[in-house]
Parts: sequence; structure tokens; C-alpha cells
Amino acid sequence: MRLILLGPPGAGKGTQAQRLVERHGLVQLSTGDMLRAAVKAGTEVGLKAKAVMERGDLVSDDIVVGVVADRIEEADCARGFILDGFPRTVPQAEALAKMLQSKGMKLDAVIELKVDEEALVARIENRVRETIAAGGTPRADDNPESFRKRLVEYREKTAPLSSYYAEKGELKSLDGMASMDVVSQQIDAILAS
Ligand code: AMP
Repeated sequence: MRLILLGPPGAGKGTQAQRLVERHGLVQLSTGDMLRAAVKAGTEVGLKAKAVMERGDLVSDDIVVGVVADRIEEADCARGFILDGFPRTVPQAEALAKMLQSKGMKLDAVIELKVDEEALVARIENRVRETIAAGGTPRADDNPESFRKRLVEYREKTAPLSSYYAEKGELKSLDGMASMDVVSQQIDAILAS
């Protein structure tokens, strides 16, 4: 099964992807996580991405598409994967379509989590508080300024993907403001249909 989870930052894509990993044995491919790992490891990709990510801007399509193209070739992706945070723009979606076609792969569904933006800001503030309370370090881009910028990026560059996939008949939208369990149930219902 090959899925895309679509939704603004803080919509719960990561949580839902992890649940899909546990329940369906899929691999979660979060471009944000992959890029953060590259930054931490100080790789060439990481060096290019670091400052861009901290500002809340988008890393260039070439870098991200390359990272995903390499990753889906790996053996653990053979049973399927969930793309979380990719594609982020219509050109990335077009590049993905070409890439999958060249590998003889097809998408099974694009699932969109629809959410209220103001509630998202509150969710992020909560995520930061919880991380600090648990003794962790919040993500460098989890501050209100970067977060709002990521929301604007989403609205301008990623939201058009809803109509892109709707026109292809691949989009399934659901209410991302519902509880995590309800959202998980709705995703399972979509996958079973
Ligand atoms: P995320 O964890 O998905 O919120 O991603 C964190 C940051 O990584 C984003 O703000 C971007 O700077 C970068 N990033 C992640 N995925 C992509 C992508 N598909 N295209 C461009 N930049 C990305």
C-alpha cells in the first residue's frame, strides 16, 4: 500500500503515520525527519538544508525528490510506504508521479487531514510545552514565528495539492480536528473501502 498523508504542519500526520506503521506494517517516510537526520549527521544534504529549515522555508525540490527517490528503493519499502510531508508542492507531486511510474509503482490513496489553523497554533504551543516537560528539546522550527511561516507556506504551496489529487480522483479528505483515535478509524475505513 502506498499512501500520501496531506495536511498542514501540526495536523497530526506524523502520529497517524506511526499508527499506520504499527497496524499495517508500512514504512513511514517523513521528509522532515529524513532532512533533520541529514542535518544532525552533517551530510551534504543536511548542510544545504539546515538554515532553510530553521527559517521555516522549503528545501529545494531537487534535494527532496532525490532523497525520496533513493529511499523508496530500499528493501523495507517493498510492502508499501506512507509519504508524510512530501509532496509539498505541485511540481513535487508531478515529479513523484513520474518517479513512481518509472519504477512501475502506483499510489493507493491520498488522505487529507483538514484542520482549523488557529487551533493548530495552540497544538504546536502544547507540543513544545510537552516536549520541554518531558525533558526534551523542541524542534528548532517549533516556535510561533516559524510555525506561522510554515502555515503560510502550506497555504500557498501545498494546499493546491488538494485540487491536484481531487481532479485525479485520488483524494480522500477527513476531519483532522477529531480525536486521534477517530481520525485513525476514519483512515482505516478509507483503506478498507
Ligand atoms: P516537517 O517535519 O514535515 O514539518 O518538515 C520540516 C521542514 O523540513 C520543512 O519546514 C521544510 O523546511 C523541510 N521539508 C520537509 N519536507 C519537505 C518537502 N517535501 N519539500 C521541501 N521542504 C521540506
